[in-house]
This record gives sequence, C-alpha cells and structure tokens, in this order.
Amino acid sequence: MALKIAVLPGDGIGQEIVREALKVLDVLNQHFDLNAEWEEAHIGGAGYDAEGDPLPESTLKLARESDAVLLGAVGGPKWEALDKPLRPEAGLLRIRSELGLFANYRPTKVHDQLLDASTLKPEVIQGVDILVVRELVSGIYFGQPRGIEELENGEKRGYNTLAYKTSEIERIARKAFEAARLRNNRVCSVDKANVLEATEYWREVVIDLHKREYSDVALSHMYVDNAAMQLIRNPGQFDVIVTTNMFGDILSDEASMLTGSIGMLPSASLGETHGMYEPIHGSAPDIAGEDKANPLATILSVAMMLRYSLDRADLAEKVEQAVGKTLEDGVRTVDLAGADEDFVLCSGMGDAVCQRLQGFA
Ligand code: NAD
Repeated sequence: MALKIAVLPGDGIGQEIVREALKVLDVLNQHFDLNAEWEEAHIGGAGYDAEGDPLPESTLKLARESDAVLLGAVGGPKWEALDKPLRPEAGLLRIRSELGLFANYRPTKVHDQLLDASTLKPEVIQGVDILVVRELVSGIYFGQPRGIEELENGEKRGYNTLAYKTSEIERIARKAFEAARLRNNRVCSVDKANVLEATEYWREVVIDLHKREYSDVALSHMYVDNAAMQLIRNPGQFDVIVTTNMFGDILSDEASMLTGSIGMLPSASLGETHGMYEPIHGSAPDIAGEDKANPLATILSVAMMLRYSLDRADLAEKVEQAVGKTLEDGVRTVDLAGADEDFVLCSGMGDAVCQRLQGFA
C-alpha cells in the first residue's frame, strides 16, 4: 500500500521550497522503490485566506490520517494584525499539540563544502553531526503553577515550575535511544542534576530505562552549563543529545549556528503516532516569490521523514548523499554563495539535487 504524506506548504517561501522537496519524492517514486503519494492542504496564512482558520479542520484530518506531514513555513506581514488565535503561527502550534508531537529533533550536520560559512574555526566543526532531541510539550514552559504575583511587602515576584513525570522522561529518552541506534549509537543526556531535583529525577529515569531496554547504546550525562561550553569547544564529541524543553531550546539554537546557514537545517517533531517535518526557518517574506530561497533544509527534512516516519533509512541516506554531492559540485543558492560566486535559484538547486539523486539509482 502506498505511504501517504500530508503536504502543507504554508506561506511565503513555503510554497517554493516544498515544490522542490516534492521533486525529490518524485525521483524516489520513479527511480527507487518508494511508493508514496501525497495530498496538499492549507495551513497558516494560506489556511486563514482559504477557510478563515490557520489550521482548517480538513487539514488536521488529512494530517491525522497520513503516515507523515511535510510542512514548509507559515507567517507573513499580511496576517500580523489578526487576533492571536487566527494568526498563522497559532495554526502551527495547534497542529503540533493536536498530533501530540512531544519530541523535537534538530540535526546539525556540518558539510565540508560549507566549512567557511560558520563563525567557528573549520578544524573545530569539521565532521560535526549532532542530533538534539528536545522534549517539546512539558517542563518549565508548561509547568504549573506559574505567574507574576504581588507580595505582601509590595514587591512583585515572577515564578515558573519545572516538573517532569516518569512517563514524560521515558518517552523522550526512548526517542533519543531509538534515534541513536540509527546513527552512531551514543546518547548524551543533558541536565542540571547537581542543582535541580526535576532533572536529578530526569537522570535517574534515563539511567533506569537505559539499563532495562537500551544497554547496547552508549549513554553519558552532562550538566547543561558544561554542554553549552563543550558544543563550542569540541562539538565533534556529540552524537545524540537528549534534554529538557528549555535546555533543548537553547542548546539546539547554539548547535545550529555551527553550520552557518539557516537554509540548511531540517527538523522533525515526533509523537507516539505522528511525525511532522519542516525546515527550522520561517516564511522569509523578504525573498518570497523570487525563487531565491535555499530548499535544502526542506529536502533534508524529507530525508528525516524517510528515516523516522516511513522506515526508509536507506533512501534517507541517498537524499543526504545527493545534497552532499550537490554542494561538493559547487552548486550554491544565494545564501550560501560567497560575494563573487555564481548561484542558482531555488528551483535550480532542487533540480541539481534530483539530478544527483537519480544518478544513485
Ligand atoms: P525567517 O526564518 O523567515 O527569515 C530570516 C532570514 O533568513 C531572512 O532574511 C530570510 O530571507 C532568510 N531565510 C530564511 N530561510 C531561508 C532560506 N530557505 N533560504 C534563504 N534565506 C532564508 O524568519 P523571520 O523573518 O523572523 O520570520 C518571517 C515569518 O516567518 C514570520 O511571520 C515568522 O513568524 C515566521 N516563522 C515561521 C516559522 C515556521 O513556520 N516554523 C519559523 C520561524 C518564523
């Protein structure tokens, strides 16, 4: 039976980059043994324009019934003045929570051909290939009680709660161990167990799960302050990093800068039953409609979808190799090109990747 993909291009460059990603899926259908079909639906500003809702019911239904969701980007100045629940970003947050996507994966892979694009020294970042697995729907961003209150002495106090239940820690740690088995088989769990009880417990649960079910994976632990430093000092030491919502938010942004270009970074948000794949960047209204965007983050999101939702790690590798070969051959979109280097358009980059991918068939 064909695998079913819900395709939600969204707004701005979302339309352009998703078009290129679909070309890649077409090549996999025609020249490899992928049997996938897809259906497009509106999300974000496009959803609001078409149906008055940034997450139309029909889109959510399609997403629920699909094996995976591929998303472009949402947002733009046109919808900024709308009430908050009608804004494009509200549609994105809602689909994540409706599909129960509690695990956010952000891989940071430094391509040799782009070593000079980073602000770090080439010898520090060469070969870096890190996957940050961040807990996405619990921790201090969601914990209760929270608020800003007035104290008896007239002073005010802001407060939040950091709390994790056994089940919440186990399910994210499980995702990290499973991901590591498909990579270099190493997990580093990042916490602040020396100071925060919630993460002391996090560490205990991770160790326990590891012992019971994943003793074949190499597990280490690191305090978050040290992890922040090690990411810059020696990022090559990491394979999979698993961590809490807030620590993951900060560390994944830090890690993404190792590569230099926002147009290169894919992401996945996974739950027990669904997976959604999207580039980490937004809808780039400043270049939308000009066919200038870099589609590689979206094409690499397709690779993640093949690996984590469609059980086709073999094809994921082919897509990643095709992207690597394209860069090796010197093909650049404008965001990657040096001042006096030639560059191709978004569609040109998509075609260049497809051509190389076809060559691997
Ligand atoms: P952005 O990521 O859209 O753009 C930041 C800068 O990076 C811009 O100069 C843009 O041209 C450039 N850029 C982004 N992606 C690129 C690509 N693939 N190739 C080449 N250049 C690229 O962030 P922003 O400008 O802060 O936000 C624009 C809109 O996107 C806002 O409405 C924001 O809310 C939304 N947004 C959506 C998502 C999402 O859909 N997941 C994420 C972030 C921002």
